[in-house]
Amino acid sequence: MQTIYQKFVSVAEALQGKPLFKRREAQDLSYTDTAELVERLAGVLDAVGVAPGDRVAVQTGKSPESIALYLAVLQVGAIFLPLNPAYTGGEIDYFIGDAAPRLFVCDPAALADHAHRKGPELAILTLGTSGGGSLMERAAMVSPRQGAHEADLDEPAAILYTSGTTGRSKGAILTHRNLASNCEALLSEWRFTADDRLIHALPIFHTHGLFVAANMVLCAGATMLFEEKFDPEVALDLMPEATVLMGVPTFYTRLLKSPRLTREATAGMRLFVSGSAPLLAEDHRAFEERTGHAILERYGMTETCMIASNPYEGARIPGAVGMALPGVSLRVTDRATGAALPGGEIGAVEVKGPNVFKGYWNMPEKTAQEFRADGFFITGDLGQIGPDGYLRIVGRDKDLVISGGFNVYPKEVEEAIDALPGVLESAVIGVRHADFGEGVTAIVVPRPGADLEAAAIVNALEGQLARYKQPKHVVIVGELPRNVMGKVQKAELRRTYADIFT
Ligand code: ATP
Ligand code: MG
Repeated sequence: MQTIYQKFVSVAEALQGKPLFKRREAQDLSYTDTAELVERLAGVLDAVGVAPGDRVAVQTGKSPESIALYLAVLQVGAIFLPLNPAYTGGEIDYFIGDAAPRLFVCDPAALADHAHRKGPELAILTLGTSGGGSLMERAAMVSPRQGAHEADLDEPAAILYTSGTTGRSKGAILTHRNLASNCEALLSEWRFTADDRLIHALPIFHTHGLFVAANMVLCAGATMLFEEKFDPEVALDLMPEATVLMGVPTFYTRLLKSPRLTREATAGMRLFVSGSAPLLAEDHRAFEERTGHAILERYGMTETCMIASNPYEGARIPGAVGMALPGVSLRVTDRATGAALPGGEIGAVEVKGPNVFKGYWNMPEKTAQEFRADGFFITGDLGQIGPDGYLRIVGRDKDLVISGGFNVYPKEVEEAIDALPGVLESAVIGVRHADFGEGVTAIVVPRPGADLEAAAIVNALEGQLARYKQPKHVVIVGELPRNVMGKVQKAELRRTYADIFT
C-alpha cells in the first residue's frame, strides 16, 4: 500500500498540468504547481528544523497552500496537526501544551496573539488564505526538498483533535495506514476517479474535509472546485461543472431552501455524500423528490476515519448509515458488558480494521479504556444493525437518557417529533429530575411560519410513544446550537435546561 504522499507524487507526475485546485476568484493550481509548492514547503520545514515525528500544528484559513503544507509535512515525515481556526487563547494553550509541536503555523492576523509562544522549542510562521505570510515568503527562497522520508505505514501521519462534542477534544493519532487504507476503500466504494470534480466546501481541519474529501481527490487525480466555505447558491452555480458534493447535513438543509435546487440544476452530478452528523430522514426524502438523487450517507469519526457507508449501487436508506467499508469490521454489543448482541438490538457500536487509530495522544489510560481485549474500538455511539444489514445510529452513549430506570434513545423520540406537522427538527436530552433521575426533554424548532405549541406536541406524542419515552417538557426554540460540522451541541442544551425540573 502506498502512503497518501507517495500516491500524490505518482499521480502528480502522471497528470502534470491538470488542475487540482479550481477557484472562482483566484488562479487554478495544477498537479505540477502543487507538487512544486509541496517540495518548497518541505524545504522550509527542513530549514526550521522539523524532524521526522515532530508535530506541525496548523491553524490557518482554508487555502490550497494549507493542503500543500499538509503534504509537505508528510514528505518530511512529521505529524500534521490541524486546528480549528475558531479556537482562541486558552484553547490554543491546551493544544500547543498537549501536542508540543516543533512548528506552529498561524494566520498572519493572529501572529501578535501567539508571538509569546515562540522559543527554541517552537518556531512560528504565518500563512494567509490568499497565500501571504512568512511561510510562503520563505518557500519562495528555499530550494525545493528532493526526496521524502521513507515512512513506515504504521508511523503517525497526523494528530487530529476530536470535535469536543462530548467533552474536551482528544488528539487521535492516525497512521499512514489509517489514511491510505480508508482512502482506497472510499475510492472504490464511491467509484471515485480522475474524471471527478468535487465541490470542496468543507473545513480542512477535520476528517471529512481533509482525509475524506481532499485525500480522495489527491489520490484519484481528480479536481476540486475549491471554496473557502459553503454557500448553497455558489454550490448550485458550480454544479454544472461538478460531479460530486461532499457535505455535512446542514449543506443539504440549506440547499433545500433554495428554489434553484431542481432536477435540471443537479443533472450533471453523479453523487451527493453526507456525513459528520445525522442527516434528517426528511431532508433525504425531500432531496430525492426535488433532484432525483438519493443522498449517500456515511458514518465515521476522527478516531476511525470512515466506518460505514450506504451503497453506491443499491438502496440508500434515509436514517441509516449503511454497511461496513471493505476491510472494516463492525459489531453492536451490550453497552455494559461488551457481549455481542443478536441482530436488531440497540447497543454500543464497535469497530476494528486498518482504519482504526493508534490511540489518543498523551492519554494511554483513555486509549486503553476505549478498546476491547480483542482489539475492537468502542466508538461511543449507540446503534443497531437491522435485518437488512444496514447500521442505524440512534445517538451517542453519553446522550442516552435514562428515565425511571428505562433507556430512552433520543433518536426514536426525535423522529416521532420531527414527523409532526409544523416541526422542522428537534433534539431530545435528559435533564436531572427528582423522581425519574432524568426527565425526557425535547427542544423543538418549528418550520418557518408554523404556529407550534409545546402542549400540542406533548398531546400528539401520547398515543405514539410509550409513556416513559414521552417528553416531560417541551421547549420551542428558533434554532438548535450547532458547531461548524453541523453537530447539535447537546452538552450545551443540557447546561441551558439543567434546572427546568427543579
Ligand atoms: P468528541 O469525541 O470530542 O466528543 P465528536 O465525536 O463529535 O467529538 P468527531 O470525531 O468529529 O467528534 O465526530 C464523530 C461523531 O460524529 C461520531 O461518533 C458520530 O456520533 C457522529 N457522526 C458522524 N457521522 C454520522 C452520521 N452519518 N450519522 C450520525 N452520526 C454521525
Ligand atoms: Mg467522538
